[in-house]
Amino acid sequence: MHLFCHEQPETLTVETAVSDSRPGKVTLAQSPFYPGGGGQLGDRGVVRWSGGVAKVMGFDVSAGKVWHLLDTPAEIAGPVEAVVDSDFRRTMRQLHTDTHILNALVFQSFDGALVTGVQMYEDGTARMDFDINGADNDRLRALESPINEVIRQDIAVSFAYVPMHEAHAERGLIRSRSVAPPPTADGKIRIVEIADLDRQACGGTHLASTGGSPPIRILKIDNKGRHNRRVRIGLAEKS
Ligand SMILES: [Zn+2]
Repeated sequence: MHLFCHEQPETLTVETAVSDSRPGKVTLAQSPFYPGGGGQLGDRGVVRWSGGVAKVMGFDVSAGKVWHLLDTPAEIAGPVEAVVDSDFRRTMRQLHTDTHILNALVFQSFDGALVTGVQMYEDGTARMDFDINGADNDRLRALESPINEVIRQDIAVSFAYVPMHEAHAERGLIRSRSVAPPPTADGKIRIVEIADLDRQACGGTHLASTGGSPPIRILKIDNKGRHNRRVRIGLAEKS
């Protein structure tokens, strides 16, 4: 599925029109909102129309349509202004990019260890679960410094669409079924690349370069079974 926020994650305000409407929910001709998925929370924000302002409380994606769930039972129509909460989006883009860096370094340092789950939070923290056989938690904790070195180097983050069969043939490109986005209608998958560090399938919003994130801290490592390690990170300025 192609989303406007994939191509233009910096454009947070869009003048657009209602394309379909029900009491309390609406689809838009063009939407700047990320509806959530792959561990990234759906955006917050508002929709303004001639009758007032409604808060966007969540999303319901069905049959290729993104329904914006509103905090009013009104059935809105006509031209609207859709506005994403910029602080919230910035936090998600930072955390999301940082989870890719963590993921890449774990993949390199622990023999292709895969992600089994990821979740980002509004408070500027995120957790990632890795399937690592007999992991040494001190070695995991020691990744904090190389992660911050990648942030400091301000490396470009780019994206491209590749055919599914190519994506499956490249080792490490699809790290986890839980984070891989659904393919587009023409059978392609979105690949996010941090130059010379990481390439993986992902459908979230990221920074344009790693330096857009503040440094991170590794806050906690939990053992979730013999193979599973849960690593919690936080943006240093918030945690
Ligand atoms: Zn991503």
